[in-house]
Amino acid sequence: MRTSIFRRPGGARPGGRRTAGRAALLTCLLLAVFAAGCGKDGSPPVKGPRTEALPVYRVDTGFSLPASSTWTKAKKRGYLVVGAKEDQPYLGEKDPATGVYSGFDIEIARMMAASLGFEPDTIRFRTIASANRETALQNGQIDYYVGTYTINDMRKKLVGFAGPYYLAGQGLLVRTDEHDIHGPQDLAGRTVCSAAGSTPYQRIAADYPKAVLVAYDTYSVCVDNLLTYQVDAVTTDDAILLGFAAKAPDELKVVGKPFSEEPYGIGVPRSDKALRFALDDALEADEKNGNWKKAFEATLGLSGVPAPKPPPIDRYPAT
Ligand code: GLU
Repeated sequence: MRTSIFRRPGGARPGGRRTAGRAALLTCLLLAVFAAGCGKDGSPPVKGPRTEALPVYRVDTGFSLPASSTWTKAKKRGYLVVGAKEDQPYLGEKDPATGVYSGFDIEIARMMAASLGFEPDTIRFRTIASANRETALQNGQIDYYVGTYTINDMRKKLVGFAGPYYLAGQGLLVRTDEHDIHGPQDLAGRTVCSAAGSTPYQRIAADYPKAVLVAYDTYSVCVDNLLTYQVDAVTTDDAILLGFAAKAPDELKVVGKPFSEEPYGIGVPRSDKALRFALDDALEADEKNGNWKKAFEATLGLSGVPAPKPPPIDRYPAT
């Protein structure tokens, strides 16, 4: 599998045709993303979530949820296993040097763990790609999943969802030297990249069949392909794309208006309604006590999005 410059600055590069200009762009981008900026005088240093700005969540030590088999197993085991993304700026990112995860989704996962009575050092994050989320929850590989996971009826047949805790919308990311793509209607005959198993991929396939669709496991590989002129656009949620654009503003831009609604939920095993409702309660409490807003501002807020009002929790009945 290809490595991404957004994840591994020293990693192997995809092969193929490349001009000197493109190589220079890549070198420049690597510096821009991982060092102090490049190309423009006085570029600001790249911002990442600052640990000291993150809220500290009160661990509910007296919490107990015997009706949840997931919770009971995790308590016995002594730690939670939480599925997440590792290459989505300001949402779910893993520091390759330390292995530490950060971002808004990660903070949501930590808030939930605290409410379930788990200390911060008893959460183990595990990277799961978009296409593998349902299987991971069904097989018990993870206790819950927080990673830009859109709630929809098809997925509700396979897993349960607490939330939503954020409302995103599908968008398009292009290079700053691209002037002909302003929305999905401009994708005919152009190559667009998305993640396998994602709702944005499915929407382009269904509604814009003239687009040439390419799929990888992750969006960071799509962005690599965009920077090396192997695709013309990347499509997924605006929240994800804005993070990539914020890290490389000279090379990348988000164009047009969001063209879908992507309500983010916390994925849980489908049969574990006790866990789902406990997470709904926890989300509501964290939205009320200010944790949600503080966490947002310290993470996703850094990509330029002001903290919105969180969407209402949808405590849907058992299906
Ligand atoms: N929110 C969309 C989805 O759940 C796209 C982002 C992702 O692939 O995680 O499919």
